[in-house]
Amino acid sequence: MSQIIDGKAVSASVKQEVKEEAAKLREEKGLKVGLAVVIVGNNPASRVYVNNKKKACEAVGFQSYEYALDENTTQEQLLDLVNVLNRDDKVNGILVQLPLPKHIDEKTVINAISPDKDVDAFHPVNVGKIMIGDYAFLPCTPAGVMRLIESTGTKIAGKQCVVIGRSNIVGKPMAMLLLHESGTVTVCHSKTQNLKEVCLGADILVVAVGRANFVTGDMIKEGAVVIDVGMNRLDDGKLCGDVEYESAEKKASYITPVPGGVGPMTIAMLMKNTLTAAKQQNGLA
Ligand code: NAP
Repeated sequence: MSQIIDGKAVSASVKQEVKEEAAKLREEKGLKVGLAVVIVGNNPASRVYVNNKKKACEAVGFQSYEYALDENTTQEQLLDLVNVLNRDDKVNGILVQLPLPKHIDEKTVINAISPDKDVDAFHPVNVGKIMIGDYAFLPCTPAGVMRLIESTGTKIAGKQCVVIGRSNIVGKPMAMLLLHESGTVTVCHSKTQNLKEVCLGADILVVAVGRANFVTGDMIKEGAVVIDVGMNRLDDGKLCGDVEYESAEKKASYITPVPGGVGPMTIAMLMKNTLTAAKQQNGLA
């Protein structure tokens, strides 16, 4: 029987740290941290994410600026807005909610965001910095996972770490952060052979596949730390991870639930990145 890693509690402590630092910046430097959130179109899931980000800003004492643009907004109009936000001193972080409508090229938009305000850490400059270990912003979800692992007291150095998934926003940066902490890292994907055997060697298993109940207890080493990044909506509307919780928790030493595991961490780390951006832009970090 494993211990549950409480993502809500860990994220609350990250947000509390951010809130205290943000209050200090306001009182001592007269600086109010600002995050601009841009949403294009009416994707309901994106709407929920944007609302949650605005609420988190309020909770930590940031100013949020929302730009809700029409579905038919052109790429040029969006790029114009990004350029205005790049130059606006009140805006320390810029987040363009993905996915964007099909007629807009996401890469072009991400590349237009100033790397200094790229609090999602998706810009190639920030991705490159993560690669060489010289980073200011960590991509929010992998950074949240690192905090969750840390909260268990598990030392990563020397451990066998297996990451399932190699997306640019989760799997690849996740592998890199574990490597920076001296884990021995294996990255698995849809062409990986003998996935079960690879997983059974993992002391730390991070799963980011996007398939409900993909990893089962028989794929988990006794005593492993299991982090489930997956967020899958089942037909009955319930949210479900990539790990089959009931069988996995019999093997793992620590495990994240879904919901209440990695999910809350992502927004908390976004707040942390925005604070870092504000400090850097004002010569305070
Ligand atoms: P993605 O871009 O679809 O990547 C999925 C990865 O899984 C790919 O690398 C794919 O391999 C791999 N994969 C697919 N089938 C596989 C198989 N049979 N065996 C081994 N690997 C397989 O997804 P993502 O954006 O990384 O997201 C992954 C999950 O995390 C989703 O459920 C998403 O909703 C969730 N997520 C949660 C948060 C959060 O805040 N909690 C944030 C981001 C994402 P190939 O590269 O070979 O195709």
